[in-house]
Amino acid sequence: MIEVRRQAPQGRPLADAPPSVLGDPVDFREKALRRKLIAGNWKMNGRRADGLALARDLAGRAAAEPPAAELLICPPATLLMGVAEVLAGSVIALGGQDCHGDLAGAHTGDIAAPMLRDAGCSYVILGHSERRIEHHESDALVCAKALAARRTGLAVILCIGETAEQRDAGRAHEVVARQLGGSLPQGLGAAELVVAYEPVWAIGTGRTPTPADVAEVHGHIRAELKRRVADPAAVRILYGGSVKPGNARELLAAGDVDGALVGGASLVAEDFWAIARAAG
Ligand code: PEP
Repeated sequence: MIEVRRQAPQGRPLADAPPSVLGDPVDFREKALRRKLIAGNWKMNGRRADGLALARDLAGRAAAEPPAAELLICPPATLLMGVAEVLAGSVIALGGQDCHGDLAGAHTGDIAAPMLRDAGCSYVILGHSERRIEHHESDALVCAKALAARRTGLAVILCIGETAEQRDAGRAHEVVARQLGGSLPQGLGAAELVVAYEPVWAIGTGRTPTPADVAEVHGHIRAELKRRVADPAAVRILYGGSVKPGNARELLAAGDVDGALVGGASLVAEDFWAIARAAG
């Protein structure tokens, strides 16, 4: 195991910080074994013409220059089947942005995990802060959705992250640990789980934590995973929040960062592609 000196968040030298702040050192051999994942979250954006054109553009780039990273796009539900057709034969995977905790039933406006599978998805984003905040989703609800995804064979991208107030109060670790503990069904492993650390204050704001801050929280998440999944070293932990072509390389190089969940920049083919290339 190669131990790398990192800087603690407040600029303290790492050796002086208490162990609970540092988490375990990053094992860069294990990190190298985890293929990076660059996931685009289109959110509530895109009509048929521009959504399909964006997917076509990305599929063309991926065919011409196969990326080292795994690529995933998560369009809104109305575009899933059309984008699935565009992506047929492409290395780019398709994902949904949410699913219900039930596999079918009387839930007007919702979408079930088997429907996402049927539309060609292999992933689903769950617990995004916009859903936790706007739709009051609890950890227990996210956990039920993750169970539905697992029963359907969808891999879950489980989003966790603290608000600015929580960070300022020094509660970032506690918040991500609680969200992870409450949202993660028992028995989920690396084959069906990706964790996305998305500090709420960084989403769509243009503000990002420093790479050292990201590495520090990811180290804590990795330590929490060790208590909760059988193969914690294999679970990918993405960073999300204002990832752009200009900051992707340094964020992706930070310790225990195994990829990125990209919102705004995933709507521009050149930008998403530049971020994918920054992943190596
Ligand atoms: C997101 O919403 O998952 C996200 C990371 O958004 P943005 O990249 O726009 O901050």
